[in-house]
Amino acid sequence: MGTAGGRTVVFRQLRYSGGLWLYIKGKNILVDPGPGSLIRIFEFKKDPRDLKGIILTHRHLDHVADVASVVESATESNTKKLDFLLAPYDAIDGEDPIVLKYTKKGFKHIWTTQLNQEYNYEGISIKALIKHIHQGAETYSLGIFYNNKKVVLVPCGRFYENMLHTYPENSDVMIFNTTFVKPNQHFYHLSAEDVEKIIMKAKPKKAVLTHYSLQMLKENPEKVAKLMSEKTGIEVIAAKDGLKVEF
Ligand SMILES: [Zn+2]
Ligand SMILES: [Zn+2]
Repeated sequence: MGTAGGRTVVFRQLRYSGGLWLYIKGKNILVDPGPGSLIRIFEFKKDPRDLKGIILTHRHLDHVADVASVVESATESNTKKLDFLLAPYDAIDGEDPIVLKYTKKGFKHIWTTQLNQEYNYEGISIKALIKHIHQGAETYSLGIFYNNKKVVLVPCGRFYENMLHTYPENSDVMIFNTTFVKPNQHFYHLSAEDVEKIIMKAKPKKAVLTHYSLQMLKENPEKVAKLMSEKTGIEVIAAKDGLKVEF
């Protein structure tokens, strides 16, 4: 429900920042309800009351700003509960948590993301695969496994060598927060070049790019994705706001 990443694109709303709505085994799970998420949910004809769980990849505002509003709507003002919230410690319990105590009451279970820990929900297993390096905010790549399917979310963070040896091979889809085109050591984000290296190793059936900076928008994400597909032989899709991907 949005492809914005980076300060300008998110906070000038050049692209939407509503997060990712997953529909897996009949369950709706929302990942990273950034600014405007509640509005986008209705715009895309979804209903927050259908949600079962929420995943926050990390505490930065572009990923969490609307969590209170979405939970308020999903729980019909705290009269019922969502099944789970999965988020890193510093997002829910740290020194300056971004999930209100009031909002926390809207969940039956609150799980703190920990490396290699598996969280099981109705036949869906969610596992933190690798810790990211991302501007002081605790962040992990997440693997979602069910019915022999493998879905991998690679949220914000700088590229490092271990990323080439961590991800399961032949995933059904890998979704990458690909903020930049070229690597830049001053930014804690992946670039298209980094993602290309990862997909050459992990060989997913499909890769999706999202979370674009202004630099990426200027380069044209579709063009970047097309070049990546040609180079790697793997289907690389540049997400658009409202894009639906089947896997
Ligand atoms: Zn971030
Ligand atoms: Zn981000």
